[in-house]
Amino acid sequence: MKKSFSNPYDVIIIGGSYAGLSAAMALGRSLRKVLILDSGNPCNAQTPHSHNFITQDGKKPAEISGIALEQVLKYKTVEFIRQKAIEAKKTNSGFDIRTGSEEFSAKKIILATGIRDIFPDIRGLKECWGISAIHCPYCHGYEFRDQKTGIMARGDKALHIAGLVKNLTDDLMVFTNGESEFSEEQLNKLSKNNIPVIEDLVSEIIHHAGKLSGINLSDGKSFPVDALYTSLPFRQHSDIAGQLGCELTETGHLRADNFQKTNIYGVFACGDNASSMRSVANAVSAGNVAGAMANHQLVQEVF
Ligand SMILES: Cc1cc2nc3c(=O)[nH]c(=O)nc-3n(C[C@H](O)[C@H](O)[C@H](O)COP(=O)(O)OP(=O)(O)OC[C@H]3O[C@@H](n4cnc5c(N)ncnc54)[C@H](O)[C@@H]3O)c2cc1C
Repeated sequence: MKKSFSNPYDVIIIGGSYAGLSAAMALGRSLRKVLILDSGNPCNAQTPHSHNFITQDGKKPAEISGIALEQVLKYKTVEFIRQKAIEAKKTNSGFDIRTGSEEFSAKKIILATGIRDIFPDIRGLKECWGISAIHCPYCHGYEFRDQKTGIMARGDKALHIAGLVKNLTDDLMVFTNGESEFSEEQLNKLSKNNIPVIEDLVSEIIHHAGKLSGINLSDGKSFPVDALYTSLPFRQHSDIAGQLGCELTETGHLRADNFQKTNIYGVFACGDNASSMRSVANAVSAGNVAGAMANHQLVQEVF
């Protein structure tokens, strides 16, 4: 059925993956006029199977968001457009959002734009990302249990991942790709748990179609490895939040309170862009709260 909404919307959701679609469901069920703008580039696109989200364990990432979109669009006040928001500004009545070809207005904005991983200059890492080079033991660790596993990280981060992964495999080594930044106590802990530390620079991840088989170091040494955990630096996927004046935390996430409100009245943030707990379950949960709270703010303004 053709939808026939016109500006202004009650809420524009920028980002139509797990967090954004979850927000849209809460709003659609409250009869809010909602526009979802999505550029179609979720962070987990390359991973073959998504895990640890109850009811959808092991499904393809796009299958999960496909079901979500189908369910959300059953609510007749919700509209979805495959376009990227490129400009946002605050107005007297709310917000204007511009894509490459159109302009839309809304009383509230929900930012569900995710984050973008920044890959270091290591051959093969990008190709393996989400397949055998992974960020989270809960998402993919079980599939690599008891296998030869590397951790590419330093200091506290490396120790944190090592503790979690040790429970999944005994065949573990840490590649710090430069100075390890471990304290004496941390080195003792790793040694007590039989986890060797290699400080040489990593030059290449050996793989076939994203499936790791080894790690090459710049000094010529090579180590067979089936899986590699690493924590990549990131930046916000979209600069729309910055244009609206939303603050970032020290970790680079959007600052949002327990109700997903940012420092800008009427702007909410949810999912990876506002949380270091990077998972589909967390994005869905935060999106649900953001949708409910945007609705609550709309109610409070008129009731
Ligand atoms: C490789 C990998 C594998 C993962 N595997 C798992 C797993 O197995 N299980 C699990 O629970 N979690 C997993 N995660 C984490 C999970 O994918 C994320 O936590 C989740 O995708 C976050 O959802 P989100 O909606 O916040 O962001 P995303 O899913 O990244 O979606 C953001 C959306 O916003 C859109 N967007 C951005 N800017 C704009 C703009 N300006 N205009 C319009 N649209 C825009 C993007 O195109 C994208 O569609 C994985 C992550 C990665 C990187």
